[in-house]
Parts: sequence; C-alpha cells; structure tokens
Amino acid sequence: MNPENHKELILPERISRLKDLAYNLWWAWHPEARFLFRDIDPILWESSSHNPVLLLYRSTEKLLQLAKDPRFLAHYDQVVDAFDHDTSCSDTWFERRFGKDARNQAVAYFSAEFGLHASLPLYSGGLGVLAGDHLKSASDLDLPLVGVGFMYPKGYVTQRLGPDGWQQNIYHDLNWDYAPILPLYRPNGERVIFDFSFGSWQLKIAVWLVHIGRVSLYLMDTNVEGNSPSDREITTQLYGGDHSMRLRQEIVLGVGGLRLLRFLGIPATFFHANEGHAAFLFVELLREKIAAGLSLEDAKNETAQETLFTTHTPVPAGHDVFEAQLLMPFFQDYLKELKLSQEQFLDLGRSPNEDGWNMTALALKLAGKKNAVSKRHGQVSQEMWHKLWPEKPLHEVPIDYITNGVHLGFWVQSDLQELFNKRLGIHWVKAQDNPGFWEGIDNIPDHEIWHAHLKAKGRLLSILGHRLKSRWQEGAESGQILAQGALLDHDILTIGFARRFATYKRADLIFHDLERLKKIILDSARPVQFIFAGKAHPADDNGKALIQQIFRIAKDPALAGHISFVEDYDMQLARYLVQGCDLWLNNPVPPLEACGTSGQKAASNGVPNLSILDGWWEEGFTGTNGWGIEGIGKESSDRNAEEAAKIYHALESHIIPLFYDFGADAIPHGWVKVMKEAIRTSAPRFSAQRMVKEYVEKFYSHTFEKVPAPI
Ligand SMILES: *Cc1c(COP(=O)(O)O)cnc(C)c1O
Repeated sequence: MNPENHKELILPERISRLKDLAYNLWWAWHPEARFLFRDIDPILWESSSHNPVLLLYRSTEKLLQLAKDPRFLAHYDQVVDAFDHDTSCSDTWFERRFGKDARNQAVAYFSAEFGLHASLPLYSGGLGVLAGDHLKSASDLDLPLVGVGFMYPKGYVTQRLGPDGWQQNIYHDLNWDYAPILPLYRPNGERVIFDFSFGSWQLKIAVWLVHIGRVSLYLMDTNVEGNSPSDREITTQLYGGDHSMRLRQEIVLGVGGLRLLRFLGIPATFFHANEGHAAFLFVELLREKIAAGLSLEDAKNETAQETLFTTHTPVPAGHDVFEAQLLMPFFQDYLKELKLSQEQFLDLGRSPNEDGWNMTALALKLAGKKNAVSKRHGQVSQEMWHKLWPEKPLHEVPIDYITNGVHLGFWVQSDLQELFNKRLGIHWVKAQDNPGFWEGIDNIPDHEIWHAHLKAKGRLLSILGHRLKSRWQEGAESGQILAQGALLDHDILTIGFARRFATYKRADLIFHDLERLKKIILDSARPVQFIFAGKAHPADDNGKALIQQIFRIAKDPALAGHISFVEDYDMQLARYLVQGCDLWLNNPVPPLEACGTSGQKAASNGVPNLSILDGWWEEGFTGTNGWGIEGIGKESSDRNAEEAAKIYHALESHIIPLFYDFGADAIPHGWVKVMKEAIRTSAPRFSAQRMVKEYVEKFYSHTFEKVPAPI
C-alpha cells in the first residue's frame, strides 16, 4: 500500500514489454496472453490467482532464460503485436460510428465496485462484475469511457469455513505492490494526491490507475497520511463500516469522484451512475451549474441532459437510506452553494411516504435517463417507483431497461474460443453480438463441443482438488475436506449453484425434500452431484446460517459426497464453475432477481440453465436451450414446496435421462444439442458487447453526436 515501496520491475530488455502487458488487464480476456504468462511458471500462475504482476516479480531467473528461448519469444512477439493493435488501431466500431473527433468527449462511469479480475478484489458480486465487463467491452468497442471508483486496501472479504461450516470473514492487507494497479504520478514524478474539501471537511485522496485495454479506471483511496484515522478507514474495505462511514464513502464517490475528473482534466461530458451509491454525483453536477450562474430549474435540466442512472435490484436492502440528522451536518454549507433551503434540499432525496434520504429516489429524480437491467426488472422498477410519478400511467414511468450481458472473451473457456475461431471464423469476437453469425454453431461436430466441455470440467475438478490438498496441508479437518468436494467425480452429472448468499436466492431450495433429492443424486446408474459456492455478506448471519446448513448436508455420509460446498467464491472460481459444470441452477424468489448474470456466463459456455423464469432467463429461455421453471405467485404459502417439486420433476423426467443418453460414440447427442442451443441463443443476446452498444445507442450517443462526424 505504500507507493514509495513500489519496487521497479526489472525485466530483460528483449521481453521488457511484459510489463505493459501485466499492467493492462487486456491480457485477462485474451487467451493467448494468458497462456504467455502461464507458460512462465504454471504453478506460480495458479497459486497467484493468475496475477501477472506477482508472477513477473517472482520469476527473475526464469525470465532470463526465457529471453533466449525462441519459442517463448515468438509467442511473446505475437501477443505484444496483438496488444498494440487492439489498444491503438483506429479501425474501431466507435470511430466508424461517430468519427475521430468524437473522441474528445468521454463517458464517466461511476461505481462503488469493479469486478475486473480476481487479482483485484474490488467487488463483492454481480454488480461489480457487471461494471468490470462494461469496461472491458467499452475497450473492445473503443468507446471513450473512464471508470471512477474506490481502491479498497483490504478489498472484499475472503471466505473460510470453519469445521462447523460457519463462515469466517478474513480481511487481508493486500499487497498492492504486486497487483495490476499503479499509483498515479504527475509527469514530474510526484504522487497525485487530491485535496477534497466538502464544507468544513477536508480530505486527502490518493489516486490509483488501472488500465483495461483502452479504458482507464481511476480509483480513490483515503488511507493517506494527514487524514484523520476515521477518514483513513473510509475506503478500507468494500461495504464495511456503519451508516456514517457509508455516507462519507458515498460523498467521496459521487462528489469527490466528479471533482477528481475535473482536477485531472478529463473531458467527461456524460455521467453514468451504476447503482445508487454514486448518486451524489448528480447533486454535484447541479452545484457546478448553479455556481456558474444557472437557476435551479436550468441546472436540473442541464444535469438531466448528461446523466444516466442504472438501478440494479428490487430488494430493499440494496437501496441506501440516510437519516436527515446524519446527512445535514455534512451538507450545511453545501446547501448555501446550491441556494436551497434545508427542506428543498431534503426533498431531492425524498421517497414518498418514507423517512430519510433515499439514494435511489435521488438518482431517479435527477438523472435524465434511468434504466433497469432486464425486461422484467424494468416492469418491477416501474411499479416500485410509480410513486415518484403518480400522475403518469404505470407504463409511462420513465424507467427503461437494458438487459445485462457478460464479456464473452473473459468468461468463455479457451477451448471453446479456439473452436469458434476454427469453425465459425476468426472474427467471432467482433461478430459476437450478431445472432446470424452463431447459426454456424450447428455445423460444429458434436464431439468437438463435448470434448471441449469435458476439458473444462476436468480443469474445474482438478483445481478444486489442488485447493483441497493445500487446505489439508494447512490442517483442515477431514470433514471439511469432504464437504468441500474431495469426492467429486468426473463422470457424474454436475450441477453448479454459485452466487452471493442473499436469502432471496434460496440456496437451500433444492434440499426442500431431502429424501426425494437423495433418490435423485444417489441413483447408481445415473447419479448427480452438486457444487455450491458463495459468500454471505460479512454481517449477514442468516446467509451464514444457510451456508452452514448446506455444509452440514455436504458432510453427511448419507449423501456420499455428492453435495459439496466450495470455499471463497470469487471471479476465478466463478470462471472455472460456469465453464466446467454440466448444468447451472438458479432458483431465486421471482421477481427479485433483477437480471442474474452467472447463468449467462454458463449458457455461453454451453452449460445449460435450469432456472426459475425471472430476470434474464425470462427473456433468454426459448424452450430448447435449457429448462425454465415457472414461479408460483407470491401469495402461495407452499411456494417453496411447489417450486422445489418442479425442479425435481425437471431433473427426474428430462434432464438426467437426456444427459446420460450416450450414443455408441460415447457422446450424449441430445444433450449436446441443448448445449449448442444455449450458446447459439445466449452468446449474441447476452454478451456485454450487445449491452454496451445498446447503452451507447440509447443513452450515450447524443454526447458524441454533438460533434459533427467528418464526411
Ligand atoms: C457473475 C458473478 C456474480 C453474479 O452472479 P448472479 O448469477 O447474478 O448471482 C457474482 N459473483 C461473481 C464472483 C460472479 O462472477
């Protein structure tokens, strides 16, 4: 964390550009670049969570040898060429669409979390991963976009399960000297420390930079000498601290973040708040305009022109509400600059019939454009927030939707990518959001798809085995090792369930009728195994109890090791799981799953979904690309029993027989057909490339069109 300690990375001259590659996350979604790093030291690569910076620091001697190894050098040259091309060529989607001069504007994307790669633990779940995928696709499209967020020195919680299955929250002081992130320096070599003053509150903010292809992400860090001990804690860990800490975090993110962009001279002309945490950004935009002499009315109109707010959840805990008594001491002086009375000011964050200051209501009122993250979530959000526009009919409540997508280059396993390149044409990456392009998937022989899948399944089980060996060496009990998957079997239908352990996701639903489940999974001719993973929020004892319950079932000899709970779900583990399981299960309480993206990752890997029809799956399910479970209406008291019964039925009658129906060539052709359908229907529609293009066309484009495109 101490930038002065940042040691110079010394590399042999011939391969010195490894440093540029390591400090730009471009490598994370280009398999050839990942293999280049892996080949330097496969064991260290795995144990470092695929962290190339750490790898380079620890491989000095090996690199001296490799600098003379013709095979390595050829691979290196090829990757460096691809990197240079991808990060600087001008034949890009954006330039074709808007022209070169439009690059003088930029979209600023604010988010409290960014999930870019497991080696940068600055995310807790789907919201952060989505932000990370947004940035990666922005880079691919050459969209001028900068990210603004936090550098959390302790990151997010690491999960360990005790012998009783209780989640232990572990915070490491991460060693940022060895992560793909750099302190921001001025040209004169001085560290950039930004002075933030907010009324009488003075704060120093250190700035960090992450390169994501062509995109820059600026991260703020308040753990700086000169700040009060409590202010130094503001960015210590993601979603840590009490309400007052949270409020200060959000002031820094929204207000501090915008001032930082101005301070750095970044020509941001459009502002996108990913979830309500950053909504003070909109208030600061108002303040800027009022300070420049505009009336409140005009300032609001102008702010509306340049802003977008994305809401991500209908679950109440996902919407921050601050008490006025907590808020006002911070905003006393700020009010005067806004030329508002206290009442007028508090009205900005008021949600009808509710006490306090609601960050979502604030964002919905001030942002000119608003969107939800799936079609269903759009309708649910319109109902939820109808109260802000009571005079409008429901369908005119101004909340649009763009369904989330996932970055295919990052999430699709490398053997499939190679197959797409070979069979669909080398341009699969560029054509990925064109549904017609994917029709070609039917021409790929079944055995090629199936064998690519088996390789990913093998990698998953082998990684889990390695993890268990080191846990065993560290002294874990045999029960813990068993519960975490020691008995997993490569030949068994493997069902994955991995996500945050929020109660509405109902991780325990499948255990509703344990006897029926036992019969299903222990069938000797056609057995089934489950892999569970996920963290509970560090303060959520209900979520932890749920994990413990599954852990106990996993340990029960009566289930013969067919249920497992794998520790420490993160992007790394997520990748192995969505690529290597045979089937992906999701059974939230509808309509609470706003979108759900892990199922999209699975489907694009040819891992079909068995999922409640909610979020994206309500749009994505075609009848032949997986299995959809119709939810029971809210009123039913037997809802869990009925929905669980539908899941058992789907497994017993359709899924298991199809999976085990192997042809004479040992290929389950019926199953592979579903796999192909999953890829064909999901990859184009639920890719982040489709999503970001949609954000551009629907919301961002006018900021770029202000500049006439060259003829
Ligand atoms: C994709 C992802 C999520 C989101 O999963 P949902 O299906 O939306 O719950 C959460 N955590 C990690 C680590 C992910 O990679």
